Amino acid sequence: MRKLRTEETYDVVIVGGGPSGTASARLLAEKGWKVVVLEKEEFPRYKIGESLIPWCWYPMERLGLNEKMEEQDFVVAKHSVQFVGLDGQRSTPFYFFKHTDHPCAKTWQVVRSEFDVLLRDHAVEAGASFYEGTTVRELIREEDQVVGVVAERNGERFEVRGKMTIDASGRDMFSVTRNGWRVPDAKLKKIAIWTYYKGAMRECGLDEGATTVAYLPEKGWFWYIPLSDDMVSVGVVAERDYLYRGERDPDAIFEREVELQPWIKRHLSEGEKTRDCRVTGDYSYRSQHCASDGLLLVGDAFAFLDPVFSSGVFLALQTGVLAADAVHDALAADDVGAERFVEYGDRVCQGIEAMRRLVYAFYDETFSFGTFLKKYPNYRQDMTDCLIGHLEKDYDPMFEAVKEFAEIPDALSHGRPLIVRGVEQV
Ligand SMILES: Cc1cc2nc3c(=O)[nH]c(=O)nc-3n(C[C@H](O)[C@H](O)[C@H](O)COP(=O)(O)OP(=O)(O)OC[C@H]3O[C@@H](n4cnc5c(N)ncnc54)[C@H](O)[C@@H]3O)c2cc1C
Repeated sequence: MRKLRTEETYDVVIVGGGPSGTASARLLAEKGWKVVVLEKEEFPRYKIGESLIPWCWYPMERLGLNEKMEEQDFVVAKHSVQFVGLDGQRSTPFYFFKHTDHPCAKTWQVVRSEFDVLLRDHAVEAGASFYEGTTVRELIREEDQVVGVVAERNGERFEVRGKMTIDASGRDMFSVTRNGWRVPDAKLKKIAIWTYYKGAMRECGLDEGATTVAYLPEKGWFWYIPLSDDMVSVGVVAERDYLYRGERDPDAIFEREVELQPWIKRHLSEGEKTRDCRVTGDYSYRSQHCASDGLLLVGDAFAFLDPVFSSGVFLALQTGVLAADAVHDALAADDVGAERFVEYGDRVCQGIEAMRRLVYAFYDETFSFGTFLKKYPNYRQDMTDCLIGHLEKDYDPMFEAVKEFAEIPDALSHGRPLIVRGVEQV
């Protein structure tokens, strides 16, 4: 088999050029490592995941992106989230600046095809190579250590070797699927059906860029995300049995649910649907392992959580940054053994657990934020911190209190590196 045209070997091979892969690529290239990103699509390519949360500011600051964001015309400033009841009445918007006077209080709604191009260019600017239209097919292993990948481009297969491989392949879960590491989250088995409208109604002033979460029966909900160019991203998330009752066609299901939510119906009535609905299901999982010798998983390639609190891009950027730091240390020490990624795994899993417990509470029939905070106003700060993405905090006391209202799961025990050298397998 041929090697990549350039005949080069790299320090780091990254599978996938979304937010997680490009975050790692930028930081590792900045540090002088030779980095290549292999991306199967040609950019700009479509992606869901348009609403950012305030804590994105931190990884984006580390990447040097916050100032660049101000100059983009594909962004809409997001200052708040609002909730709409079954009766169509909206609550007072929750303004981030009332919680913190930090610049993170302003975040963004983004068109992902363009946001991801910005991230790609940012990584390339730092010296990373980025090959589009290049699908990674296999991991190359030598004595159980991953030493690169086999990729395919224009029907030709070739090897791309690197001291370290980062899997940032998103929900394709490239190495998770090949290793049989996928562990679904048994309780979070939702379906999402979504589409786009042009010219739909928007709120005014500060609320124009708000994300709206509008409730449906049986803990289903709509997202309503205003985008640039007068577009709105709108989708429904609920249990499979609820959505597929008596109807199979996604567009018909979507329209039926719109009729049930007066706020969504009113807001969409002025707009025009621009494309057929897309569907995705069973989307919460975590890999059995976050790393093995020579391999590290980031973003959705490691774990995915129900999108109700818009945590996906934040977790992708944050794991990309943490991975870059861990990989830099490993390369500098000339040791890419899985045990070097224990701390990475612990930090990432701890953050995901905070958000996961909140997602479980949200879907519990007996839980409501209002009732909880009425009884425990002292947890308002913690609850808000968790919602905006400040995940590296101890939320155990708050979730002990939440347990009075909702079933809160224990932390999952999996997600640590696969350590085989000398020590028992974790
Ligand atoms: C219904 C829904 C709604 C969502 N809403 C939000 C939201 O509002 N806010 C939010 O923050 N997040 C949201 N998300 C989550 C968000 O989409 C993801 O968390 C985020 O895109 C993850 O980034 P990533 O870099 O890990 O993966 P991705 O963005 O998926 O990037 C992975 C890249 O890898 C490439 N790739 C895959 N396999 C290969 C291969 N074999 N070879 C080469 N390249 C490959 C893909 O083409 C892709 O470009 C939502 C998700 C869903 C399903």
